[in-house]
Amino acid sequence: MIPLLDNYELVTPASLHEALDDLARHPGARPFAGGTDLMVALEAGHLPPGRYVSLQHCRELLGIQETPDGPGRRSLGEGGVTIGALSTYTEIRNSAPLARRYPMLAMAASETGGLATQNRGTIGGNIANASPAADTPPALLVYDAELELMSSSGTRRVPYAAFHQGYKKMDLAPGEVVARVHLPARDGQWGDYYRKVGTRRAQAISKVCFAGSILMAGDTVQDVRIALGSVAPTVIRARRTEDVLRGKPLDEATIASAERMLATEIAPIDDIRSTARYRARVAANLLREFLVGSSSDSSLVR
Ligand SMILES: Cc1cc2nc3c(=O)[nH]c(=O)nc-3n(C[C@H](O)[C@H](O)[C@H](O)COP(=O)(O)OP(=O)(O)OC[C@H]3O[C@@H](n4cnc5c(N)ncnc54)[C@H](O)[C@@H]3O)c2cc1C
Repeated sequence: MIPLLDNYELVTPASLHEALDDLARHPGARPFAGGTDLMVALEAGHLPPGRYVSLQHCRELLGIQETPDGPGRRSLGEGGVTIGALSTYTEIRNSAPLARRYPMLAMAASETGGLATQNRGTIGGNIANASPAADTPPALLVYDAELELMSSSGTRRVPYAAFHQGYKKMDLAPGEVVARVHLPARDGQWGDYYRKVGTRRAQAISKVCFAGSILMAGDTVQDVRIALGSVAPTVIRARRTEDVLRGKPLDEATIASAERMLATEIAPIDDIRSTARYRARVAANLLREFLVGSSSDSSLVR
């Protein structure tokens, strides 16, 4: 049942400066970006009453730009990419630098909801909604993203890997907004793998979401990054599984060890979308598909 709207206030400041000022002056006020999570919560009767601050005129939070990644970087190769928090899934899907250099984000965006949700939903909202089943976070973890957080008292940067601290708990102070997502440069020929498993291909929340990126040196894993959604209270980076793989030949023994380690790193649950057992099986299958697809050994079991 939709609650009485009298209990809600939506204000639309004219600038980012005014929005941050409003959030600072009204403790408990919350940002409102595309509204695709907030309006679902309202419809379901779960949205806490109070003040909501629209970010729609915060032009500083728009845009996807290629950036030099620190002094001297340009001479080494390409820099990173910065994504404004108000960037929609449609803008992420249509971004040439993201498609070329961080393709898992474009894939995640194209598998999020339907076109209407993609036109309204923002990456900042996906991050701050803090769902363990959200679809951009595994890709952000694999790309070693950093978040730029802003409040009326200043700006700070935090590694995305440290941002989610527990179920719906974030390193985000009252009055702070996610302003930008910074993706650092990547040197070398990384191979990316992104797969969302849901009830169907569109309009489904993930049962398991897997993002992996691997850098091979011949048959040996030089470096690897793995992250998953829907298998723990937050999205997770599977660092111990990465450690099992790094420096090893990508053969059956290594893949089997990695599968065993991944099983110890995830903590899936039974819920309305799936069971813990199914999620654990699918996570192992996706890890294997990722690794076998990265190997030149044709004898590996798929
Ligand atoms: C039909 C439908 C299908 C969907 N399918 C998917 C899917 O497949 N995968 C998926 O991951 N999600 C899905 N979603 C969820 C939703 O679209 C995303 O989480 C979206 O990215 C939220 O962004 P928003 O701008 O709409 O956030 P809002 O609803 O405006 O806000 C969400 C939360 O984030 C906070 N917030 C928003 N922006 C900021 C900011 N810049 N800084 C700090 N806090 C902020 C708000 O206060 C609120 O708590 C779906 C939603 C719908 C309605």
